[in-house]
Amino acid sequence: MIVEVIVDVSAYPIDRPFDYIVPEKLETIIERGSRVHVPFGNRKVLGFITNIKEHSDLDMSKLKEIISIIDVEPVITEELLQLSKWMTNKTLCYEIDALQVMLPAALRATYKKEIRLVERDGVDIESLALFGSKEIVSYEIFEKAGLLRQLKKYLDQGNFQLDTVIKQHGKMKIIAQYRLVENMELVHTQLSELPKNAIKQKELIEWLLTQKQSTYTMAELKDSAQTNNHTVKALIEKGILETKNKEIYREISSLEYNDKDHRFKLTDEQQEALSKINDAQNNNEHTTFLLHGITGSGKTEIYLNAIEKSINEGKEAIMLVPEISLTPQMTRRFKLRFHDQVAVMHSGLSVGEKFDEWRKIWRGEVKVVVGARSAIFAPFKNLGLIILDEEHESTYKQEDIPRYHARDVAIWRSNFHQCPVVLGSATPSLESYARASKGVYSLLTLHMRAKEQSLPVVNIVDMRAELKSGNRSMFSIDLADAVREKLEKKEQIVLFLNKRGFSSFVLCRDCGTVVECDNCDISLTYHREGEQLKCHYCGHQEPVPKQCPECSSEHIRFFGTGTQKVEEEITKLFPYARVLRMDVDTTRTKGSHERILKQFGDGEADILLGTQMIAKGLDFPNITLVGVLNADTTLHLADFRAAEKTFQLMTQVSGRAGRHDKEGQVHIQTYTPEHYAIEYSKSQLYEPFYHKEMQVRKQFEYPPFYYLTLVQVTHENVMLASEYAKLATDWLRANLSASTMVIGPTSSAISKIQNRYRYQCLIKYKKEPILVEKLQQLIKIYRTEWIKKGIILTIDLDPSTIL
Ligand code: ADP
Ligand code: ZN
Ligand code: ZN
Repeated sequence: MIVEVIVDVSAYPIDRPFDYIVPEKLETIIERGSRVHVPFGNRKVLGFITNIKEHSDLDMSKLKEIISIIDVEPVITEELLQLSKWMTNKTLCYEIDALQVMLPAALRATYKKEIRLVERDGVDIESLALFGSKEIVSYEIFEKAGLLRQLKKYLDQGNFQLDTVIKQHGKMKIIAQYRLVENMELVHTQLSELPKNAIKQKELIEWLLTQKQSTYTMAELKDSAQTNNHTVKALIEKGILETKNKEIYREISSLEYNDKDHRFKLTDEQQEALSKINDAQNNNEHTTFLLHGITGSGKTEIYLNAIEKSINEGKEAIMLVPEISLTPQMTRRFKLRFHDQVAVMHSGLSVGEKFDEWRKIWRGEVKVVVGARSAIFAPFKNLGLIILDEEHESTYKQEDIPRYHARDVAIWRSNFHQCPVVLGSATPSLESYARASKGVYSLLTLHMRAKEQSLPVVNIVDMRAELKSGNRSMFSIDLADAVREKLEKKEQIVLFLNKRGFSSFVLCRDCGTVVECDNCDISLTYHREGEQLKCHYCGHQEPVPKQCPECSSEHIRFFGTGTQKVEEEITKLFPYARVLRMDVDTTRTKGSHERILKQFGDGEADILLGTQMIAKGLDFPNITLVGVLNADTTLHLADFRAAEKTFQLMTQVSGRAGRHDKEGQVHIQTYTPEHYAIEYSKSQLYEPFYHKEMQVRKQFEYPPFYYLTLVQVTHENVMLASEYAKLATDWLRANLSASTMVIGPTSSAISKIQNRYRYQCLIKYKKEPILVEKLQQLIKIYRTEWIKKGIILTIDLDPSTIL
């Protein structure tokens, strides 16, 4: 028997399956999708069986045997095997990367090099000493001792042998359990023969005899039977108690909220949307729905109902939310409704916890997974529904290899399982809404809030006017007054500081002008070196102006503030306010995010100040005021999605106010109140914004009218980076169709990361049937030639950002 194996080595020309012989004793347990250890070159690596066959086309005498099989039950299902092939093509990655990304980190192999002492004779004392009394030591010991040259010599001479040991990253959690042995006669005789002074032992046996439950952990015994380690050990030695190891799942701790599962009578709009989804579920249709519902319109309630239907019919469901750890309230709602049928997967969990949650899915012990992006690969075998909440979020796109979009994977899986996908959002991505308008997706709309509250009133504050009237604070008079009023009323306030890791543009504080590129309609990016402004789409470059090109003011400078500074100002302006700050600094430790939200929910603070993290998911009844301190940051990102992202963000944050009985109000501070993304945020109407933004996209030839592919080239040496970027660009220009635009090379918006200079080339096209084929050829050139020069080339089909 022969198997085809994809080995854990990412390199060209290894990106194909290799044939291995299956030793006879393993033939009966070999399955597609199982992991194996195989020899590769002079190493031992992990691999995935992707095919089983009788014969190899290769010379049998040259084939090697599988060393061992890791999984008796395959970890990659037949469906996921097919999906990995599709992903390899779709994202231009190695097949091994596509396979690995589907598994929890715990199942990924770590390789350890070990040195075995074979022959002592002839080895110098210093090297021998490293072994001490052992026969095997790690490679690192030689490295640390600076004896690598000797190591090589002894390996060559055969004194030492090098082994690669493959270890699995994560382990199952095992706990010892204790119980009385089955032989009751023995128990009773032993009991009667116990010495008089063995009171504790006697008590424990008698206690166990009266209990219904048969097995206990040590902690339980100590707790309920008031016993101790010593007593238990003594009874084990006498053969009265026995112990056995049991695998347990790690308990994911979550704070208790005082909420119950509410079942609402659905509103007419909710009911209508739900019935359409239910119809698709009944008819096994792989329809993609776009559920467009304003904030608070009850989308989550629809998800819960649709998932319940799937479960009742014996099927499973995947519920994706962006960075779920950030929305503990959401997880709670699912746990309350579906109890232990829910697995939860997000980046806040430890490797071990994720492993446990994954195994619950793999073993079919749960029916729903609520998780972030990678939960889309949940190994369910009978999927009935896939939901992506906040489908416009860029976190659904993986920015690393393999560069997949969870939405694409969802649609692929829905095709496979013949089940519907629901994409939900108050502010859908332009691509999705355009597809819905064309009928590719089926549009479902919720116009009203579920509890019939009105949307909050939004006030746009012109910060230029504030400056003119002498107010230099980051709080406008309007916002400061509103905060004071709410503090008096003991209502809660959310203050939002729009911060992006990368946002360096130059803004005039008098007129709000941001210097933009004439060719591209994109803000120029500020570069400290040489005080330059650069366009990262076309390469245009100019010095930072001393005066505003619009109004000649000298108040033109680099824009940005930190949350800490805002907090200081709040304490100055409102000394009695109790403030909670939520940003990367205050949420570093595990669970801190959840803790801050709980404190705020319990009314322990008046003001929640935070960055993007607080824009979503907050659903607290007492929030009646939302203040956006600076709307402009996202607006001037060097990205064609800047306006879309701003509108989405403003709508999401505003949606935090007045979700329940009390009315909400919102103040958005900006230096560019006339920008359409800000103007439409006032009404929070999506459609007018959509139409305006589509015009802009059409005019400047951006998605969804054109497709984009981003090719980036990096190197530590700036000359080499730019030289090979030019080579790549020229090659693409020569090989792609004439109608395809190949723009660049230009330096990237973030021109250097980790000491590597970054250059890029942008491909814009409406139709380019040969694109993937040509890109694969370019990758081949890169992997065989350029890589030797230290170049790294990355290709992102359909990038979510082009910074
Ligand atoms: P969305 O996900 O669209 O933002 P949610 O599902 O979170 O909206 O609903 C917003 C609020 O309305 C929640 O507090 C929810 O409990 C409540 N809600 C949802 N559906 C109903 C309904 N049919 N009747 C009354 N309240 C509802
Ligand atoms: Zn100006
Ligand atoms: Zn430009």
